Amino acid sequence: MITFLRLMLTGAYTNALRILAKDDRATSMSIRNSILTLSVQPTPTVLDEMCIGCGGCYNVCPTKAIEMVKLETPVEVVEGYMKEQVPRIDLLKCIYCLNCHDTCPIYSIFGEAAPIHARDVGMPRMTLQEVLKKPVKAPPETIAELSKLIPSSTISIITGGKKE
Ligand code: SF4
Ligand code: SF4
Repeated sequence: MITFLRLMLTGAYTNALRILAKDDRATSMSIRNSILTLSVQPTPTVLDEMCIGCGGCYNVCPTKAIEMVKLETPVEVVEGYMKEQVPRIDLLKCIYCLNCHDTCPIYSIFGEAAPIHARDVGMPRMTLQEVLKKPVKAPPETIAELSKLIPSSTISIITGGKKE
């Protein structure tokens, strides 16, 4: 009986601390507060600054969850190559197959984190210009497959970065 009472009092004390002093919480208070204030920010799924706008992700998405959105001001990624569009994912249509990520040339050709990921795109280690100067890591078959999905102008800036 004494053991039972001791357990009950310990439990009540611990719960009181958790409720009143916000002690021992597994989830972050900032996440809780953002939920309560309806200000949760969606996880980024596209990193525009790392994208070359090739549309490969758009072409492989099986559920048509990706839309290519025109940039108000096109960006010159490398001399003579303008990026004019970037993808946006509709997560209500996404089945999280990650075809978009795996096909993206930044990942499939250079082995770097793709600028598109349906769950969380993360942070890049390099700038896009640095990535494009890296040696190409993919075999010719991968480049040939990708050539069917993206414009030849894009393929040439990718393979132009090859250093072998
Ligand atoms: S992960 Fe989602 S957005 Fe990407 S290809 Fe698959 S269904 Fe499309
Ligand atoms: S495949 Fe990669 S580089 Fe091409 S548009 Fe999609 S995210 Fe951008």
